[in-house]
Amino acid sequence: MGFFSKLKQSVFGKKKTDAKTEQYQVGLSQSRRSFKDKLSRLFAKHREVDEAFFSELNDLLIESDVGASLAAAIIEETKIESQVQHTQDPQKIYEIMVEKMRDFYLQDLEVPTSLNYAEDGPTVILVVGVNGVGKTTAIAKLAFKLKNEGRSILLVAGDTFRAGAVEQLDVWASRIGVKVVQGPENSDPSSVIYEGLAQAKKDKIDVVICDTAGRLQTKANLMAELNKIHRVMQKIIPAAPHEAFLVLDATMGQNGIIQAEAFAQVTTLTGIILTKMDSTSKGGIVLAIKHQLGIPVRYIGLGEKMQDLAAFDLDAYLWGLIGGEEHAS
Ligand code: GDP
Ligand code: MG
Repeated sequence: MGFFSKLKQSVFGKKKTDAKTEQYQVGLSQSRRSFKDKLSRLFAKHREVDEAFFSELNDLLIESDVGASLAAAIIEETKIESQVQHTQDPQKIYEIMVEKMRDFYLQDLEVPTSLNYAEDGPTVILVVGVNGVGKTTAIAKLAFKLKNEGRSILLVAGDTFRAGAVEQLDVWASRIGVKVVQGPENSDPSSVIYEGLAQAKKDKIDVVICDTAGRLQTKANLMAELNKIHRVMQKIIPAAPHEAFLVLDATMGQNGIIQAEAFAQVTTLTGIILTKMDSTSKGGIVLAIKHQLGIPVRYIGLGEKMQDLAAFDLDAYLWGLIGGEEHAS
């Protein structure tokens, strides 16, 4: 069986993945269209597979934001494997390439399949990232998802810096039907987070999700602020935060990765929420993030609505990138 058949079976084999597959297909349609257009041009141009073919396949990966070093590694492995299989067929070579993309993602990375829930007491999720990347929206979507799973949720409006940020979280919260703890504008985010965790503990809340300010600041200030938030959390819940998610905007490409490196240098991150995947045609960024940062993408944002957040699923993602149009909108 070819790799694409295996991938398709993995994605569609279990009925419960269907809604998710659909979500990935729709959300990744820009990326898929771009990927497939380039590929069919490449196939039309190259009747036979030579150095130029591989070099253009490499360019295609780079144009999808896979990153230069990973693209080169994938192409190298693809060449070797196509020699082993004695194939000159562009379609087969393309399948081998996608298989190598998958292999590279799984290399040296344990991908958590669920949230790291506290054994007892509230699970605390801290969400960080620069302004405008989609933190507040991602928090609302995550709250919606976890609430639908039957968990009690409390949101903490730790972005006390930006005018309107608290109201924005409030609007989402009332739509979803969850409570928000907030402090006065320009108050210390740590004190709001302290209040929030104390209330969550008292009310026996299952999951507390803390929003933070996304202002750009110096590395030293960012480190001090995040350290303080961690210290304050641990006064109430020693194992907090159970998850520390960095939100990245997929449309920012390599600039997003530079942003992530800056955060990773000053604080521990347990995962990435990659937003606006529906707004980019460069879906390869997921692979670059893993390769360059070694941090797994845990959720991806596939639109602006409450439902448009999906737990990351490698096979559904790859199928969304290369799969057939039959499930796209
Ligand atoms: P924050 O400043 O990091 O809290 O960012 P916001 O949550 O306020 O989001 C900034 C903008 O990005 C808003 O207009 C959101 O609707 C938009 N946005 C967030 N996530 C997504 C997504 O997955 N897809 C799309 N298309 N837009 C998104
Ligand atoms: Mg915000």
